Amino acid sequence: MKIGCHVSIAGSVDLAFERAKNLGCNTFQIFTKNPRGWKARELVSEEKNSFNKKILKGDFSPIFSHISYLPNLASLDPEIYKKSLDSFILEIQRSISLSIPYFIIHSGSYKGGTIEEGFNKYLSSILKGIEEGKGKIAILIENSAGGKNSITGDLENIAKILNEVNDKKSVGVCFDTCHAFGAGYDLRNEKALKSTLEKIESTIGIENIAVVHANDSKAELKSNRDFHEHIGIGEIGELGFKAMINNSNLQIIPWILETPVNDFRGDKENIHYLLSLMEK
Ligand SMILES: [Zn+2]
Ligand SMILES: [Zn+2]
Repeated sequence: MKIGCHVSIAGSVDLAFERAKNLGCNTFQIFTKNPRGWKARELVSEEKNSFNKKILKGDFSPIFSHISYLPNLASLDPEIYKKSLDSFILEIQRSISLSIPYFIIHSGSYKGGTIEEGFNKYLSSILKGIEEGKGKIAILIENSAGGKNSITGDLENIAKILNEVNDKKSVGVCFDTCHAFGAGYDLRNEKALKSTLEKIESTIGIENIAVVHANDSKAELKSNRDFHEHIGIGEIGELGFKAMINNSNLQIIPWILETPVNDFRGDKENIHYLLSLMEK
């Protein structure tokens, strides 16, 4: 099974490979720039070359990049929208320069307008991203916990985008278990998982999920809160993750953890714990 976590690019992007290896990953996710700001330092050709060389070895595949925190691709504020779109395009270009095949975007917020306006803005951003990607990179839409003004909490909305784009090579889904749970999709046991998988099937389609973000949730079902927890000790719990990791449809999808790192457990321990739930 492909399993890994989000790893740091501090110092030089290509250092992510060593970090991922030390954490026991065979796939991983990175930001291509500092996620907390709008500015991006230029990637130097040395680190880009080294990253490209390491990717060719094939020990980690696929590799995912994730958009930085600030962009809101559904923003109805022209100034924020422009900054968001510029960052989105830049991050796609950086990902392509690193031969990364998948770029994950979070939901957009339609604050100050209607969901229709926000949806159209978000969709047009995605179409611009696809154009920029030129078939070299797929954009993966991440489901959200369905907080206020969020578009992708409801899987129906993601399905609508997939239908509008109608190009499975250019657009897909990143399914975050913590966000899904926050949005009201139960995952706590086999029965709950079955009914959520049926909802997935009738909306986005499981075959469109290119990556699972495996995170437990500190917040309750349908809380609309995005609060990651170590695997098995949150509200989804061990039973839920046991059901998911032993599901043949989910096993064939790469899983990326974005769980907390603290005294209780780090990434390596969460990956190890998750794998221990797998039946032989
Ligand atoms: Zn996530
Ligand atoms: Zn989250």
